[in-house]
Amino acid sequence: MVVGSANVDLVVDVPRHPAGGETILGGNLRRTPGGKGANQAVAAARAGGAGTTFVGALGRDESADLLLASLEGAGVRTETVDRVDAPTGTALITVSPDGENAIVVAPGANSRVRVGAAQARRVAAADVVLAQLEIPLGTVTAAAVERRQGALFVLNAAPSRELPDALWREVDVLVVNEHEAADLAGAAGTPEDLAAALLARVPAVVVTLGAEGSLVVRRDTDPVRVPAARVDAVDTTGAGDTYCGVLAAALARLGLAGLADAARLAGAAAALAVTRPGAQDAVPDAAEVAALAE
Ligand code: ADP
Repeated sequence: MVVGSANVDLVVDVPRHPAGGETILGGNLRRTPGGKGANQAVAAARAGGAGTTFVGALGRDESADLLLASLEGAGVRTETVDRVDAPTGTALITVSPDGENAIVVAPGANSRVRVGAAQARRVAAADVVLAQLEIPLGTVTAAAVERRQGALFVLNAAPSRELPDALWREVDVLVVNEHEAADLAGAAGTPEDLAAALLARVPAVVVTLGAEGSLVVRRDTDPVRVPAARVDAVDTTGAGDTYCGVLAAALARLGLAGLADAARLAGAAAALAVTRPGAQDAVPDAAEVAALAE
């Protein structure tokens, strides 16, 4: 079960990012399905091979159709997606020649994602509940609380926000990149230092390290560094989302004891994703992931 945001990404290549008050000409507009929640749901279903349901909110517009087509095309169940009277979430993205993104997100329908009776019933049937922080924190907490005894709650704490104690208490596995780890730990340090600090609050932490792979740390076992496959990166958009979706899907099969193995599969899927443009469009299928992870 993935609970989170869905956005349409409107992407334009620009010679440079415009300054305040300035208008510049860019290249052709690309309109692609994105949003951390929807990206992670597509990754769990397609690359992770798990039966996946998405809890989110979409408007009643063409963007919603694009997102539903992408989710359903990957095999994600969408009956717990609410249609609301707000525009579908939209990200305005300019990309400069050095690959640097400048992004403005209009959350729209994402600020209306909720766990109502229908969503709560489906959450209670899930083996793993995965959420991020592009939707209201109360919804994230409610989803975690509604899971059944023994189901795992995986929180990808992105983008960085301060977390209420009620949410910290629920987390079984925290997934963060180095910046988010430093923000949450309130300190600087090596990934190992940051993960060790975060273990005071949650039983397991995964720190993603870009081309360096990831670090898996649990209270009762030694830290494990999972190296990334060497690939030619063309677009790293959605790498972290692919990683989270596949990690959660693998945890549904392997349980928490299999966290390091889940991280290997997640890293393989994310490495394949960075070799292709787009977010959801870049997610590999489960057979490709298994072949690279061997
Ligand atoms: P985020 O995009 O959320 O900051 P990262 O950059 O850490 O997350 O990427 C998430 C995961 O994607 C990494 O842990 C790694 O497994 C994979 N990844 C990212 N960039 C590369 C790359 N250049 N080569 C191989 N794998 C990569």
